[in-house]
Amino acid sequence: MTRVFSGVKPTGHLTLGNYLGAMRRWVEVDQHQADALFCIVDLHALTVEHDPARVRRLSRQAATLLLAAGLDPRLCTVFVQSHVDEHARLSYLLECVATDGEMRRMIQYKEKAAREQARGGSVRLSLLTYPVLMAADILAYGTDEVPVGDDQTQHVELTRDLAVRFNQRYGHTFVVPRATHPGVAARVMNLQEPTSKMGKSDDTGPGIVYLLDEPDAVRRKVMRAVTDSGRDVVYDRQGRPGLANLLEILAACTGGNPSDLSGVYESYGALKKDTAEAVVELLRPVQQRHKELCADPGYVEGVLRDGAERARAMARPTVDAAYRAIGL
Ligand code: ADP
Repeated sequence: MTRVFSGVKPTGHLTLGNYLGAMRRWVEVDQHQADALFCIVDLHALTVEHDPARVRRLSRQAATLLLAAGLDPRLCTVFVQSHVDEHARLSYLLECVATDGEMRRMIQYKEKAAREQARGGSVRLSLLTYPVLMAADILAYGTDEVPVGDDQTQHVELTRDLAVRFNQRYGHTFVVPRATHPGVAARVMNLQEPTSKMGKSDDTGPGIVYLLDEPDAVRRKVMRAVTDSGRDVVYDRQGRPGLANLLEILAACTGGNPSDLSGVYESYGALKKDTAEAVVELLRPVQQRHKELCADPGYVEGVLRDGAERARAMARPTVDAAYRAIGL
């Protein structure tokens, strides 16, 4: 059976980008068709300025939302990264295979390091080595497929490179994984700055739809989305990014195709209105289930405890094999 691994960082509240770019596929496809693990990657949240109590709260919230979105612990494994020591154990070995130059070429590192410096903070070493820990997350489970949004392509490529290099140097140990992306909305853009992705850690409220936003907040954000001064509704990602983003969101919510949808609308207002309602309807059942799960925190804790146990049992043999392959 295909092994699937993916994760979310508890660096902020989960967004529509996380849902359309990754989570929906986990729920609708991966947990049914594969042996799938979904991880709240809390160690990654420590790579930038953070409040520890908030990271803990957001981890529980992310787990609750994954279950609310439809992940079923009878079908897949949901757990928290820091509960399983194997990730950090393997990360060190992979750091000995990765190079400094490779790390510095990562686009997300450059962007995030610049952001930390602009805030007057210093750049943590872990921000540089973060993609190696991500590679360990993936390789520890013998992962075949990594369902992620477009923004993670470079990191999964690096993971493949490290797996191949390790295997060549020390003997075959790791499965070489590949990324899978959704056909539509693989990169949902910020509604206020449609040339940057909708990222949960940006905390730039008005351009980000959070999964727990009230219907009126969703409507307000979508109706105020930045478009352009044209009048005709056409699907052009390069030339008309704001409009293309709305068409993609609507298409992803309704199962349509952005190009076909552009022919249906004669005004931006009508498109925005339908997009807002489609998002509200998409989020309604998730929010309802989230509310129910919040009333039963013991259930979520139990799922995470079992998940960590299962994950540990899966990761340990691979990580042990990696140490043995080196002769340690
Ligand atoms: P974030 O950038 O919100 O902190 P994470 O690193 O936690 O996201 O990513 C969780 C998953 O959501 C990843 O698979 C990532 O590719 C996907 N994802 C995040 N933002 C977007 C987006 N704007 N559009 C599509 N997918 C996204």
